[in-house]
Amino acid sequence: MSIYTGPVFDMAATQFHAIADLIDIPRDERARLLYPKRAIAVSIPVHMDDGRTEVFQGYRVQHHLTLGPTKGGTRFAASLDVGETAALAIWMSWKCALANLPYGGAKGGVAVDPGVLSLRELEAVSRRYMQEMIPFVSPHTDVMAPDMGTNEQVMAWFMDTYSVHAGHSVNEIVTGKPVALGGTEGRREATGRGVAHLVRRACETLGLRPQNCTAIVQGFGNVGSVTALTLERKFGVKVLGVSDHTAAFYDPAGLDVARIAAHAAQHRVLSGYTEAPRIDPAELLVQKCDILAPCAVERVIDSAVAAKLQCRILAEGANGPTTPAADEVLSRRGDVFVIPDILCNAGGVIVSYFEWVQDLQRLFWSEAEVNDKLERLLDGTFAQVTARAARDRMSMRLAALAIGVERVRAGKQLRGLFP
Ligand code: NAD
Repeated sequence: MSIYTGPVFDMAATQFHAIADLIDIPRDERARLLYPKRAIAVSIPVHMDDGRTEVFQGYRVQHHLTLGPTKGGTRFAASLDVGETAALAIWMSWKCALANLPYGGAKGGVAVDPGVLSLRELEAVSRRYMQEMIPFVSPHTDVMAPDMGTNEQVMAWFMDTYSVHAGHSVNEIVTGKPVALGGTEGRREATGRGVAHLVRRACETLGLRPQNCTAIVQGFGNVGSVTALTLERKFGVKVLGVSDHTAAFYDPAGLDVARIAAHAAQHRVLSGYTEAPRIDPAELLVQKCDILAPCAVERVIDSAVAAKLQCRILAEGANGPTTPAADEVLSRRGDVFVIPDILCNAGGVIVSYFEWVQDLQRLFWSEAEVNDKLERLLDGTFAQVTARAARDRMSMRLAALAIGVERVRAGKQLRGLFP
């Protein structure tokens, strides 16, 4: 029992102990690898538009500082708690190490539903959150980025709040900012592009032609919408189903993803779109398709859903969409090729790293250069994971975790107890 105990942290811990057993990490080394270096909890008082003062809870968890600063997204979601934040920070650590980025993992956020805030209230929450975090972050200790419920504008407010305090512009304090403020070309699309790129690699591995494949994408925010659009436009995949937290659509003849994206851009949600047949959201994931991409929240694929999946490739755009019990079912089935989250959605943090490097150097790259470097890094990482999975006869998830955990462990062994 710890302050982190809860369903999402327990999932990260279960995964960690499974891999620690497999690669023989002694018991007395495990707590140091698993538990975050620090967790910060803050209160965020905000004057609401109706005159009330409301106080929101904010968190930032920094998992380890062994390999460089920590790096991780900022989530605005009503259900956020410190355990979920810690789990996401831990996954970021394995993800950064897997891609060989010089970072530890972090994650943060505010327990608030951004959908019910006015723009002024959202700005007030964002600025006060960063204000409270100033003592604990810097471009060389912890670099924030967007995650669910936050976007380029929120990153611009973070960067401005930090810069006002510093007395000069500190563009490199956050990534995922607008290009006009030192953001990088290609960051907004990076996660979804990476998901689609790795789906193509998985298709090659299985001998499938993407233009003959069908896909279902859960979640239609930054990651889901770009994944669906890239799969369709770049690789010719037919998208049969999409959903968000307000609606789910499924058409075996294929959906018009561009029109759905235009609707989402205008209304912020999918509900209200009338040009495609609706489906019960619970049924969407288990429809027949070649590629299933959960790009929304954690733990949507439990053992019951896993038993009913009808896809060939499970591309985890979201963090933690598949529970350990579901993993066991998938391992037993053996007919679903899983691109695990710490590999599948790594495009986001990879291009965030490119943004940080460009900001520190004050030297900016073209979008083509960013995408080319992204694809090469993803290809190398995918090859390492598939080779490890084949060599040690383990699942893609365990192979990815093994590589990430081993690299963090090696850094800790070289440095000692401090970081
Ligand atoms: P977002 O806020 O832009 O979009 C989230 C989407 O999920 C929205 O369309 C929302 O309606 C939908 N959603 C929420 N609950 C749902 C539910 N129960 N069923 C169906 N849809 C639901 O967030 P995002 O940035 O696209 O992040 C999505 C996932 O990808 C998260 O797990 C996040 O941690 C992960 N991720 C994001 C990035 C990034 O660069 N943004 C990078 C790596 C991983």
